[in-house]
Amino acid sequence: MTRTRNYTYYDATTSLCNECHTPINAKIVFEDGNVFLMKTCKEHGFQKVLIADDIEFYKNIRNFNKASEYPRVPHTSTDYGCPLDCGICPDHEQHSCLTLIEVTDRCNLTCPTCYASSSPTHGRHRTLDEIKAMFEAVVLSEGEPDVVQLSGGEPTIHPQFFEIMDMAKTYPIKHLMLNTNGVRIAKDRDFAKRLATYAPDFELYLQFDSFDAGVLERMRGKDLTDIRKKALEHLNELNLSTTLVVTLQKGENDLEIGTILDFAMKQRCVRGVTFQPTSVSGRLDHFDPAVDRMTNSEVRRLIVEQSDLFTYDDIIPVPCNPDALLMAYSLKVGDEVAPLTRYINPEELLNNSKNTIVYEQDERLQQHMLQMFSTGVSVDAVKEEVHELLCCLPEVIAPDMGYDNIFRIIVMNFMDAYDFDVRAIKSPVFISFNLMVRSYHLRR
Ligand code: SF4
Ligand code: SF4
Repeated sequence: MTRTRNYTYYDATTSLCNECHTPINAKIVFEDGNVFLMKTCKEHGFQKVLIADDIEFYKNIRNFNKASEYPRVPHTSTDYGCPLDCGICPDHEQHSCLTLIEVTDRCNLTCPTCYASSSPTHGRHRTLDEIKAMFEAVVLSEGEPDVVQLSGGEPTIHPQFFEIMDMAKTYPIKHLMLNTNGVRIAKDRDFAKRLATYAPDFELYLQFDSFDAGVLERMRGKDLTDIRKKALEHLNELNLSTTLVVTLQKGENDLEIGTILDFAMKQRCVRGVTFQPTSVSGRLDHFDPAVDRMTNSEVRRLIVEQSDLFTYDDIIPVPCNPDALLMAYSLKVGDEVAPLTRYINPEELLNNSKNTIVYEQDERLQQHMLQMFSTGVSVDAVKEEVHELLCCLPEVIAPDMGYDNIFRIIVMNFMDAYDFDVRAIKSPVFISFNLMVRSYHLRR
């Protein structure tokens, strides 16, 4: 007599044990409308992790895969199998649309949620020679890197911060980003002014989690409301391109998504919002991975539920890393905001099968679309692509647009040991040079 499982088996992959990070087999199964990873570690037992709350959306993700683009030069050899050969090893499947260079371990905050466990005394600042070596490794891999993000810790507290910025500008980097908590920008207007001299092709990635003092206390260790306000005041005045970065935690700020989007669209300097579910890494003082993790499909649903602007069709997987990234574009014209993606049927446009492309007569349009939905393209740079598309779309009046008119949402899942899936890790577009070095040392 056979027995029936209470789930539907869908696929198999390699994941990691949540506890000891040993690579282990995993099943992907559907149960009660959700998608789970199920895995068993010899030492730490059975583990079941929610990876999506929408089965049809999950199944559709792989339709967004695009042809692999391999980096010019790998940095390690393929010896032990993924993920132990990072990286980038010859077995990787995408080049880096966005590379993080971690210039310091230190920070002027000690957030209870910090993937880098950063604090004023943690670790050390990288030397200029070490930072130069990281830039050169990126350029060796990418030739002309699309986007390089200075990260940390808090890069702006590095004692040689502007020397690092000047150094970055000597390399053929198409777009430079600065990941910051905004404290220095808020407190020092002259510092913000000097930052603005690095535009164009320069953008801030500004921590912005909540309007609620209690949430900020729990996630950032203090009420940063005034710091956020002042930083944005300076950045609006300078019209310095800024993306607001929201670290999402269930039960904390997950009901503020709509409010943050409304606020962001009214800020002169803000070109978009990136939502990042908290990943299990570093310091997590008020976070229980068993119940507090969020998936990309949940965030997508919450955006639709909390914002009048976007529907499910507006928020689609990004072709170079569809497992981890979702994206939506809209146009801001005066007080009006119009989602762009619903007019251009991105799913069909992005489909490489000639028979199903809506605009199959015009390959140029498909290229514009792929270009827009690439994280390697900044919002500033994408305006030409949008303009080209609008000319073919009678539903939208194409104004005389600048990048101020474009607004982009990204949902970005930083994979951790819980939801690790070797199929997806082979094509991350975000490569952190410090993390790769850590991973390289782990296997030894
Ligand atoms: S993630 Fe990529 S670089 Fe790292 S081991 Fe796997 S294939 Fe190689
Ligand atoms: S999360 Fe960012 S701002 Fe907070 S301690 Fe870590 S590096 Fe600093």
